[in-house]
Amino acid sequence: MADDVLRRVPFGGSDGPRTVVTGGAGFIGSWLCDALLEAGGEVICIDNLLTGSLENLRTALSSPNFRLLEQDVSDRVVVRGRVDCVFHLASPASPIHYQRHGIATLRAGSAGTINALELAQRNDARFVLASTSEIYGDPSQHPQTESYWGHVNPIGPRSVYDEAKRFAEAVTMAYRNAEGVDTGIARIFNTYGPRMSTDDGRVIPAFIGQCLSNQPLTVAGDGEQTRSLCYVSDTVRGLLALAASSEAGPFNLGNPDEVTMLELAWRIRALTGSESEIVHVPLPQDDPRRRCPDITLAGDRLRWAPTVSSEDGLGRTIDWFRRRDGRARRPLSALGAQGGHPNGRPRGRGATGSGDRVRARELALTGTTEAPASSMRIPDQAEDPR
Ligand code: NAD
Ligand code: UDP
Repeated sequence: MADDVLRRVPFGGSDGPRTVVTGGAGFIGSWLCDALLEAGGEVICIDNLLTGSLENLRTALSSPNFRLLEQDVSDRVVVRGRVDCVFHLASPASPIHYQRHGIATLRAGSAGTINALELAQRNDARFVLASTSEIYGDPSQHPQTESYWGHVNPIGPRSVYDEAKRFAEAVTMAYRNAEGVDTGIARIFNTYGPRMSTDDGRVIPAFIGQCLSNQPLTVAGDGEQTRSLCYVSDTVRGLLALAASSEAGPFNLGNPDEVTMLELAWRIRALTGSESEIVHVPLPQDDPRRRCPDITLAGDRLRWAPTVSSEDGLGRTIDWFRRRDGRARRPLSALGAQGGHPNGRPRGRGATGSGDRVRARELALTGTTEAPASSMRIPDQAEDPR
């Protein structure tokens, strides 16, 4: 991840940027936290662990410059001290998760986005919204440019997510235009890589999990629907490039390498050496038929383009799933709860007071018992998204 984009991160003061990442315990958010810590500066992750996990934060939690605040962004966002940049990623993201948590998804996109924007406004900070290609719905324009308004079913099963993100974009632009908040919108296309959750139903972890356990590959419909898959380090570099600019966007962030789901199934089967058979299951309602980003704008204005090929990215992701399934899980050390810090390390500037009405907990590694502190850094090459 250490490249020119990380060197362009200094959107903070002289003592390093202080960045808030909502949804930082999730798949993309945890890699973003790691990249920001690697760049120097302090990171405050706000997450209610609805779909994220502490496991994703093993590396980050071992840094003294990292704090996790367990808060629901839809209720209130409480961060003490100065903030230089707010990345708002908190939201369920997979179809299974957002359909299971429909109201929470709508609240994260609406109230949650407003709370995150107001945090940025109070601090005169840069704000970056993680929006989505779902803004385009089942698109009738290919590839999708940012000027395309989309084709969205407002009451279908995907609407809780699509409309939440459309509202999130609208309110972000309103705070920019009416309140002068320095905002940027990223429309993220399907991103994959290590730390994806196997039970969230998304296609890459589903196919890899099925191949590694020699279960049938469940291709939805005829498998001719397409997606354009972007490796997570490329997406994170795009988010950082947007944060380091003063561009409003929206910008498509994705890899234009478009593939049908049937081709993807065969590709993952070959890369894993699996003998899984391919079976066809019903296509979910409103499943977009084609999805492919036009990334000209991000190239011109952010000097960003994806660099990881699908062969390389899929290979790294498969390696990670193999190692994760194969190794006995190293337990996380006991976690300090409300208030003080059990190992005597100073509390971060972002810690919330115990009297806060919101349920806000600062969690930090104690570094005791099961594992030595040094092993909290994941030494495992397969974990590394570079
Ligand atoms: P994820 O589910 O792994 O991460 C989301 C994180 O947000 C989780 O840690 C979850 O616990 C947290 N969260 C959810 N609701 C919250 C709330 N109310 N308060 C605090 N925390 C909350 O998903 P991801 O794939 O990492 O996606 C991250 C962001 O990127 C999401 O906003 C998603 O919409 C966007 N995005 C992702 C993709 C993708 O392909 N992964 C594509 C487009 C957009
Ligand atoms: N899909 C599939 N088999 C699965 C899981 C998903 O064929 O086991 C299909 C799904 O129907 C969709 C595509 O893969 O056409 C991408 O699905 P995912 O849930 O990963 O993302 P999204 O639909 O939100 O782009």
